[in-house]
Amino acid sequence: MNTIKIILGDITKADVDAIVNAANSVMLGGGGVDGAIHRAAGPKLLEACKKVKAINGERCPAGEARITEAGNLKAKYVIHTVGPRYGIDTPSETLLASAYRSSLDLAISHACKSIAFPAISCGVYGYPPEEAAGIAVSICQRPEYESLAIIFYLFSEKMTAVWMKAVYGSPVLAKSPVPI
Ligand code: ADP
Repeated sequence: MNTIKIILGDITKADVDAIVNAANSVMLGGGGVDGAIHRAAGPKLLEACKKVKAINGERCPAGEARITEAGNLKAKYVIHTVGPRYGIDTPSETLLASAYRSSLDLAISHACKSIAFPAISCGVYGYPPEEAAGIAVSICQRPEYESLAIIFYLFSEKMTAVWMKAVYGSPVLAKSPVPI
């Protein structure tokens, strides 16, 4: 059985080997969780992102992931992945699954033991949370990721309940922070 935990709280506080950032393809910061991660990590993270090879200004296309150092965060690495803009980057389901897989594969190849995910694409990218949670959890439950402790950091009680339902089949509300 894979270890999947759910926490209602701020992912920048996660004490894990790798924190996943829901980035955009330019990878130089943005709003939402991306902005929070860059603020908490400080300018070293932006410098590390600038060093990632860009093609036509794009450092990471939707569905892929890149790894950098983590600046002032507790984590060793930030894994930047780009989820699909729902209904714009298609097929959205395949791209979202690929964003999770690419992030998990990078964590494994960098000998990480623990990884924290936000709800990729569920903010300004507009992915319906129930569908996104189903995809996220089914990828994280694959046997090749058994060695990783996977923690989802959700930012509202509603989102936490949706993820609880995807993992455990029942919408248990959590208070912050509640490792299950
Ligand atoms: P996307 O562009 O992939 O939709 P967003 O950053 O807009 O990414 O939102 C992704 C999810 O991250 C949303 O559910 C948002 O509420 C949540 N979020 C925002 N800030 C944080 C944070 N500090 N920690 C964890 N989750 C966060």
